[in-house]
Amino acid sequence: MKDETKTILAGRDPETHFGAVNPPVYHASTIIYPSLAAIRGTQQIPYTYGRRATPTTDALTKAMIELEQADGCVLTPSGLSAVTLAILSAVKTGDHLLMVDSAYTPTRSFCDKYLVKMGVETEYYDPLIGGDIAKLIRPNTALIFTESPGSQTFEVQNIPAIVAAAKAANVLTAIDNTWASHHYFKPLVHGIDISVQAATKYIIGHADALLGTVCARGEVYANVKRLWNMLGMSVGPDDVYLALRGLRSLPARLAQHSKTTLDIASWLETLPFIRNVLYPALPSHAGHALWQRDFTGATGLFAIETTPCSEDSLAAMLDNMRLFSMGYSWGGYESLIVPGEYTRQCRPYETDGHLLRLHIGLEHGDDLQADLADGFARAGFATA
Ligand SMILES: *Cc1c(COP(=O)(O)O)cnc(C)c1O
Repeated sequence: MKDETKTILAGRDPETHFGAVNPPVYHASTIIYPSLAAIRGTQQIPYTYGRRATPTTDALTKAMIELEQADGCVLTPSGLSAVTLAILSAVKTGDHLLMVDSAYTPTRSFCDKYLVKMGVETEYYDPLIGGDIAKLIRPNTALIFTESPGSQTFEVQNIPAIVAAAKAANVLTAIDNTWASHHYFKPLVHGIDISVQAATKYIIGHADALLGTVCARGEVYANVKRLWNMLGMSVGPDDVYLALRGLRSLPARLAQHSKTTLDIASWLETLPFIRNVLYPALPSHAGHALWQRDFTGATGLFAIETTPCSEDSLAAMLDNMRLFSMGYSWGGYESLIVPGEYTRQCRPYETDGHLLRLHIGLEHGDDLQADLADGFARAGFATA
């Protein structure tokens, strides 16, 4: 069965809900035990406490387990909490963490401001390092954290090479797979130990809720689950329902995002004042070959670098867009544009122009292209 079909079926069990296609939203804290034996644990019951699981959360975790080919999945209140849970499950005081230099900025802040207090040393590595990561592995390296393509600058990492080096040294690997989602990249199939997504983005897909997922296998999953339980990371049932609802149309939405984005990115490449289009699906992208080898599609988020223009010109463009709004988060049905904001140690992205991050929504590509063209004209970029 293809993934598009699996996405429709995964985690569903209408017979247990009187035939309703979707599971009900269980609002539950207290779960009532049928007997003292159940309280003592000698009689098995499916649910024990609302924080741990309900049929609503089970429907989503079961679907994610199937789609990510995992042994287990936990849901967290946001993508960022999924990232921090994954890291904390794998490191202890005295350990060394290898963190990709192109990581999501709040991930960096967590390493620099919290892990440091825990006595975990973070070393940032070049996203293009590939198998040479082996040279950075120390006896106390506990985890290699990846994010591919990288936030803001879209470097594609050589995940199989990094995984091979990590396995040879008995080091765990994790990925923030939010850009591709499990539909276009399957981390566990590529040997990654812990797969994280901000379900906030494409899974929920409608800019109306926050949620994170952490999937893993075997003992690695057991560690994630134990810590998740200890930290009390429960999620609201309505948000889980929105994620389940979003998940069903994920492949169809991504196909559309992908098509329109490639059209727009290809057009942007032809404009004289666009120096660079950072989208791995373009053959001109430095990471295109790796992307083509490892991914099954490209989503709607990418960046462009323009030639220099004044802040006022940029404001004339961005303040007056008809369809592109300025806002963080992404993965919803609407198009977004924001100035790039990033920190780099290993491979600084130097430009005297502007890095702009675009999310291409589900509007018609012709309308989006016209909105961008008018915006560029307002900023004084000459199209000829
Ligand atoms: C948005 C995002 C997150 C965080 O997700 P939230 O749900 O907003 O906490 C993590 N990683 C990446 C790559 C993201 O884009």
